This record gives sequence, C-alpha cells and structure tokens, in this order.
Amino acid sequence: MDDLHIVAIANQKGGVGKTTTAINLGAALAQAGHDTILIDLDAQGNASTGLGIDAERRKKTTFDLLVGDETIEDVVQDTAIRNLRIVPATSDLSSAEIELSQTADRVRVLSKKLKQVPRGTIVLIDCPPALGLLTVNAMVAADSVLVPLQTEFLALEGLSQLLTTVRQVRQSANRELRINGVLLTMADSRTTLSQQVEADARATLGDLVYPTVIPRNVRVSEAPSHAQPVLNYDPMSKGSTAYRNFAAEFAARLKLIPEAA
Ligand code: ADP
Ligand code: MG
Repeated sequence: MDDLHIVAIANQKGGVGKTTTAINLGAALAQAGHDTILIDLDAQGNASTGLGIDAERRKKTTFDLLVGDETIEDVVQDTAIRNLRIVPATSDLSSAEIELSQTADRVRVLSKKLKQVPRGTIVLIDCPPALGLLTVNAMVAADSVLVPLQTEFLALEGLSQLLTTVRQVRQSANRELRINGVLLTMADSRTTLSQQVEADARATLGDLVYPTVIPRNVRVSEAPSHAQPVLNYDPMSKGSTAYRNFAAEFAARLKLIPEAA
C-alpha cells in the first residue's frame, strides 16, 4: 500500500519558482499515474490560474478549508489533467492568517484537515512568499519541505532563515519534518554567475540539491498565460525536459511505486 506524501514547496522569497514547480511537478506526477492534489496556499492564486481554474470555479477555496468547516473533499476539484486535483485560492486567503491566529491550535489547522486525504495520494502545497502562519501550517502538515532556489547572486542567503523555521517547526509541532531537497531554478548555463551559484549550493548543501537544474526558459514563463503546465504547453521545450527529469528524481526520493498510468 502506497503512503500519503505531503510536501510543502516553500521559500520566503517571491519569484523563485515555487508555483512553477508545484504546477509542473504536480502535472508530471499525475501523468505518471499518481493521484496528486495541489493546494494553492498563496492569496495570489497563481497555481490556480496556471492550471486554468478561473474565478467562477473558485467557489470553494483554501480559505474555506482553513477557516470554515469544509473538508478536503468539499474544496478539491479536478483540473484538465487526469489524476491532478487542486484546492484553488483567491485573494480571500490574505485574511486567513489573521483568522487563523485567533484559532486554537492555529499551527495545526491544515494538518488536521489533511488527515482525511486517502493513502496513496501525493499532496503538494504551494506556499506563499513568507514564513508566516500559512507556511508554518504547511510545514506542520508536511512530511517534507522542497525548496526551490533561484540561481542568482546571494541565493543561499535566505536559506538559513528558512532552515531555522524548519527547525522550529520540528521542535514544536512536527518532529518528523524533513527537507526533501533543494531545486535550483531559472539557471542560465551561459553565465559564470549561475555556474558559481550552483557550485556553491552543491558544496554547501551536498546531496540535498537535486541533480537536475531547471534552466531559464521562455516557454516556462509563457505557459501560465495559456493556463497549462509547460509540460503540456510545450512538451519538447528545455523547461519541460528538465521538469520531467526532476519529477523522476523526486519520485525516486519519495520511493514512489510506479503506477499503471
Ligand atoms: P514563486 O511562486 O516562487 O513566486 P513563480 O513560480 O511564480 O515563483 O515564478 C516567478 C516568475 O518566473 C513567473 O513569472 C514564472 O513564469 C517565471 N519562471 C519560473 N520558472 C521559470 C523558468 N525556469 N524559466 C523562465 N521563467 C520562469
Ligand atoms: Mg508562487
């Protein structure tokens, strides 16, 4: 029997590729036959938009899951991709932190709601660009944290703050929380800076860094406006190839049993 895997995709920096990774990893896992649920935990709702869930289809959202009585089954909905479901987000979610802060056991709200997800499901949580109560809820609910890191100057700077938060969550609410890995994103192989950042990350973080690096690729940035993962928008692009390779490495790290697609 396959386990339930819950992975928070987190980095307090915005624009590092969290949402792009959530969408494309989710699509790749789903296409490989794994039941996958993406939870959009960012009030910007970019994961929802990128998967074609327009405003009329956001009647039940992550906000209802966190603040209302809704169960996961009440709020999850299908996407255009088989096996990939999503809990969409709207700007409402920006007030959820305040509501949550007044709730008993405020760091465990998402964790409790995810207890009802069936075994054999992979849950990916697309975190907001902050280490506030929403991201902490994701880390408390998760088995592990996947950290997208943009290959740019000072990329490693913000990482210690993130790791401190992971340590605090481990000491307080989720002893089992692990780091799944670090995914280098938006790399420009032609620049020495990009190569230097990659070398630094591998020297500092060792095997935590995924072998596959996601290149900067215009097709990746175009895909959201077509409401599709780049995997579907342009399957032969460099971005798609990289995300497929990464998804295979991710599945191996989770020891996922391949399923008949
Ligand atoms: P985050 O969720 O961390 O804020 P996003 O995934 O939304 O980051 O990415 C930020 C922006 O960069 C988006 O416009 C996205 O389309 C673009 N982007 C992400 N990854 C790539 C890539 N590999 N190549 C080109 N553009 C990318
Ligand atoms: Mg995002």
